[in-house]
Amino acid sequence: LTSTEESVLETIEHEDIDFLRLQFTDILGVVKNVSVPARQAEKAFREGIYFDGSSIEGFVRIQESDMRLIPDPETFAILPWRTNEQGAAARMICDVVDTSTGEPFAGDPRTVLKGALDRASELGYTVNAAPEPEFFLFEEDDEGRATTRTNDAGGYFDVAPKDLASDVRRDIIYGLENMGFEIEASHHEVAEGQHEINFEYDDALSTADNVATFRTVVRAIAAQHDLHATFMPKPIPRINGSGMHTHLSLFTEDGENAFHDGDDEFDLSETAHSFLAGILEHAPAITAIANPTVNSYKRLVPGYEAPVYVAWSDRNRSALIRKPAARVPAASRVEARFPDPSCNPYLALAALIHAGLDGIERGLDAPDPVRENIYEFDEAKREEYGIETLPSNLGEAIDALEDNEVIKGALGKHVSEKFVEAKRQEFQDYLVDVSQWELDRYLETF
Ligand code: GLU
Ligand code: MG
Ligand code: MG
Repeated sequence: LTSTEESVLETIEHEDIDFLRLQFTDILGVVKNVSVPARQAEKAFREGIYFDGSSIEGFVRIQESDMRLIPDPETFAILPWRTNEQGAAARMICDVVDTSTGEPFAGDPRTVLKGALDRASELGYTVNAAPEPEFFLFEEDDEGRATTRTNDAGGYFDVAPKDLASDVRRDIIYGLENMGFEIEASHHEVAEGQHEINFEYDDALSTADNVATFRTVVRAIAAQHDLHATFMPKPIPRINGSGMHTHLSLFTEDGENAFHDGDDEFDLSETAHSFLAGILEHAPAITAIANPTVNSYKRLVPGYEAPVYVAWSDRNRSALIRKPAARVPAASRVEARFPDPSCNPYLALAALIHAGLDGIERGLDAPDPVRENIYEFDEAKREEYGIETLPSNLGEAIDALEDNEVIKGALGKHVSEKFVEAKRQEFQDYLVDVSQWELDRYLETF
């Protein structure tokens, strides 16, 4: 056993942990757990824990369903919302191994992201990422089911008493800090009932792990307050939706920020310009992954601070990529504003990173930034500036993904095929459904 594994075993003993949740995500980004008695920890480290992968979304076919979970000891964390009386529990995030080959399983999103990081490392870079997940807190009805009633009437950066949810947000933050998160900031977002909690940047793999954990923690602690936390991108029409802006930068082996160049007008190096050009070029295909639900496209409409057009800016928030002001060279970075918190964070980061690295390898030049509000451009003006539009629905996004070898390659054959199949089905289900809007509009008119 490694020393980190040894110290996990000691903590389990010392903290009297009864259960271990072995965590991984399916292709659609849903967090899965296999729970084992904590005394199996040593066995889990030595040989892994076997489970049947056939029932996990997009994992494998029935005939070849045996998978093995290998916990990553670095991710050990005690679940703060469980007490010792209930039986204390801790979780570890796992890599999934295909038992028939003994190799990392190609359908494991964590493996896919590691592939992107290996490619970055071949080019001499490590990748840092920081997400800004937004979410809504809604009241539950008498049966404990989620409603879309918000429990407060606060607005952007409002403080209590208007922001009634600040107690909940404080408990969420304590919970996250207990699990090892470093919280940078939290605030009430623009919409009623909408919140944002930012955590410290980290290497891209830890950040993806953190997002998966974050969603679980936020939901669990909200539920303790009889509230439902949702990461659905646009739960209420005609007000802001929830994004998950993703900040990215590359660092060299000697710890220098490869995105910084003090001589550049935007403090961005040529490497950074090429990286963002790569994301712009592949953006329509990336949306399928970064905005993977039917509902995602109801957020990507003009007027609600979410991007619709493929452009970058150092100023305004209508652009797909923004260059945030950086106080120190180490903080020079680009902010992809299109991802939303319903995405699989491993796959979304893998797609963004591969797209950016493709831009670097091909030496792409970034177009000029757009400083005006692009929402106000008409088609002629967009054409004059050469600004493309993002896919307007999940079907178009999947088409763009299927046509894009770089982004399909980022996912690998297994994941891209299963993903496209699942998402085509999801979009088809939506198309044949009849919505409340249609009933309201047509039932009595015709
Ligand atoms: N809620 C906005 C979105 O959908 C973002 C608001 C902000 O700039 O933080 O992306
Ligand atoms: Mg925000
Ligand atoms: Mg932001």
